[in-house]
Amino acid sequence: MGKINRLDEHLSNMIAAGEVVERPMGIVKELVENCIDASASHVEIQILQGGIDTITIIDDGIGMDAEDATLAFERHATSKLKEVNDLWNIHTMGFRGEALPSIASVSHVILRTNNGTDATEVEINYGTLVSAKPCGTPKGTMIEVKNLFQKTPARFKHLKSPQYEFSLISDVVQKFALSHPEIGFVLSHDGRTVFKTRGNGSLLEVLMQIYGRDSAKTAIALDGNDMDYHIGGFIMQPNFNRATKYYMLLYINGRMIRNYHLQKAVMDAYAPYLPKERYPIAIINMEMDAQLVDVNVHPSKWEIRLSKEKQLEKLVYETISNALKEHLQVPKVNVNR
Ligand code: ADP
Ligand code: MG
Repeated sequence: MGKINRLDEHLSNMIAAGEVVERPMGIVKELVENCIDASASHVEIQILQGGIDTITIIDDGIGMDAEDATLAFERHATSKLKEVNDLWNIHTMGFRGEALPSIASVSHVILRTNNGTDATEVEINYGTLVSAKPCGTPKGTMIEVKNLFQKTPARFKHLKSPQYEFSLISDVVQKFALSHPEIGFVLSHDGRTVFKTRGNGSLLEVLMQIYGRDSAKTAIALDGNDMDYHIGGFIMQPNFNRATKYYMLLYINGRMIRNYHLQKAVMDAYAPYLPKERYPIAIINMEMDAQLVDVNVHPSKWEIRLSKEKQLEKLVYETISNALKEHLQVPKVNVNR
């Protein structure tokens, strides 16, 4: 007999969970992405003890029917991809069908969902379906994730203080609010509301809330184009700078991403105006045909591959550089006086 085993579904979900849900922030990211994909206009995120105790996310999106509410927890079950070609043309935040089964394999999950016809409650405990039954719940979806990593002590040990875990969550929620000003977000920690956006579509308003009225008031709107790309968003005046690189936020087609080269293009454009070791505050929205970007690089979806990366770096650099030049011009002395 051979030595190779086919892993059962629970075990493979736990392995996948290692990459998708490393800590509470990763869970919040995946669950909020699902709310966005469900066309929610309001998303409420309630956190207890940095998410180590409970993460509850409530949306007013399209919901699921009774069958999908349980199917959603099966591995590679997704409503967002149907065939191979779809993978090169992704218009949703999710597509892997991995988040819910991964999360449910390392926690206790209750989901309530209402699609306008069915209202269903599904309970899953560390990968085992406890119950699936009709319930009363408003239109949309509520998902509660409790007792994270209680059965995986090595993982649990890796978590830091509730305050630290919450700071990561707060950061990622603010990033969503900046990329989706049309969605109203409410974030609370241990019962106290700490962040709230109105969802009226104004990016400037979200900027003011996060970075303060003074810095946002003088923010410079970006507008750069070439054959393939459009650059939008806002950059702050160089005097509102920071000691870390975390405030240069990059989005591709509404998806938050991490990319060293694009970040460097932003820093290079600011370089003439900033002291050493100081970094700008910038929200860079890059729009492009979905086929120009491969989002299927890593399960957490932070990384992307671009087919014409150099061209995009150049456009980002030039757009910011020109915007800064235009707005920071020293007033000309009138020589005809
Ligand atoms: P993916 O987002 O990659 O499809 P997930 O495991 O995150 O995978 O979710 C599985 C499926 O469950 C989704 O494709 C979607 O159909 C459904 N789903 C998850 N969350 C929600 C939600 N908040 N509202 C409506 N449907 C949802
Ligand atoms: Mg998802």
